[in-house]
Amino acid sequence: MDCIFCKIINGEIPSYKIYEDDKIISFLDINPVSVGHTLIIPKEHTLDFLSISDDTLNHILSKAKELAPLIVDKLDAQGFSIVQNNGICQEVKHYHLHIIPKYEDKKNMKIEEVYEKITRGE
Ligand code: 5GP
Ligand code: ZN
Repeated sequence: MDCIFCKIINGEIPSYKIYEDDKIISFLDINPVSVGHTLIIPKEHTLDFLSISDDTLNHILSKAKELAPLIVDKLDAQGFSIVQNNGICQEVKHYHLHIIPKYEDKKNMKIEEVYEKITRGE
């Protein structure tokens, strides 16, 4: 199957991985809307909000509850949006939840630095 996110899961395409377990993976968005824009996806190829299992969706949401405040904290953001597109507004046809940090003042940072800040243990 020609799915870009399945290729990220199996390592064919590199990513800035923030979190991984047996069911899900989280990585930085390659074309961020804001600094620290992060995606959480299921490892099993699943189309969207309507087809994902409740178990996996709940797992993704509970992980988002951990990752969003961590990202906000590490990047000094003032808030965040949770977004999930379906149908014509969904570009990649593999379920993904967006965590989009929000800043009072516009912020620019290289993805390598964002990755370093988020994954650095403190
Ligand atoms: P959608 O519009 O489907 O909700 O969002 C798809 C997201 O996937 C976009 O924000 C886009 O930047 C991101 N994306 C697309 N291809 C890649 C990729 O190869 N790597 C990463 N990290 N993100 C990607
Ligand atoms: Zn896929």
